[in-house]
Amino acid sequence: MSSSKPKAKPANRPSVRHPSHNHPLRVFKPKEEDETVCSGCELQLTEQAFKCTKSECDYFLHKSCFDLPGESHHKSHPDHPLTLLHSPPDDQSVYTCAACDQYGSGFTYHCSSCNYNLHVGCALLPETIDREDHEHPLTLLYCTSCKGREDTIFICSACEDTVSEDLWVYYCKECDYGTHVLSCVAEEDQESNEEEEEEEEEGDMSSPASRIKSLMKTRDEMAALQLEARIRNDANEAALDLWDQPKRRYYW
Ligand SMILES: [Zn+2]
Ligand SMILES: [Zn+2]
Ligand SMILES: [Zn+2]
Ligand SMILES: [Zn+2]
Ligand SMILES: [Zn+2]
Ligand SMILES: [Zn+2]
Repeated sequence: MSSSKPKAKPANRPSVRHPSHNHPLRVFKPKEEDETVCSGCELQLTEQAFKCTKSECDYFLHKSCFDLPGESHHKSHPDHPLTLLHSPPDDQSVYTCAACDQYGSGFTYHCSSCNYNLHVGCALLPETIDREDHEHPLTLLYCTSCKGREDTIFICSACEDTVSEDLWVYYCKECDYGTHVLSCVAEEDQESNEEEEEEEEEGDMSSPASRIKSLMKTRDEMAALQLEARIRNDANEAALDLWDQPKRRYYW
């Protein structure tokens, strides 16, 4: 990415204000190896970002997160507008994202009437994606295709874990093929530092609990892939790379 034309940099970079933070921010060029995380979406910073001007303050924002609209009329929640909050609602330290079922501690698109929360990253998931291992594009559904059907459960076609019926999935109706929105790696060796080291045997279809454990193990990798997919599809140039938060949780 070296540019041939030398460009003069302004001697004094202007600072800007953002309502999410008490101090002024300035333009910041993250180094990839630093894996700096955005304080808004909690994903790794990319080329265009802001940093707090106070050297002791680790507050960063993607430019795309800086520019997020304060209100979203999201298709996943048609009855109410969602409000952008800069921290979890109700003075909590975390919220649970309705799309991916994971914790968030930064920005959220929130409906107070329903206590509905979305990661800003999940709110921006593309409505269709291509997966290398599936021949058709997959469509984003805001609940699984099994919702309301007592006789069926939704199994992620990639990781083979069950998906709770209210979670979002990427789905191909023609093939009845669907995955978690955090695109799953099918057969990849996962390093795991979980305290629980249960064997996950191929063909153990009978125990949802063991499947959930395996899902948790693969979670971070999935997040990375999801974000890769998003980069390609997202209209704003956010090249979000890695989910740097080890703490994940499931409730069922
Ligand atoms: Zn961000
Ligand atoms: Zn600050
Ligand atoms: Zn989410
Ligand atoms: Zn609502
Ligand atoms: Zn999956
Ligand atoms: Zn298909």
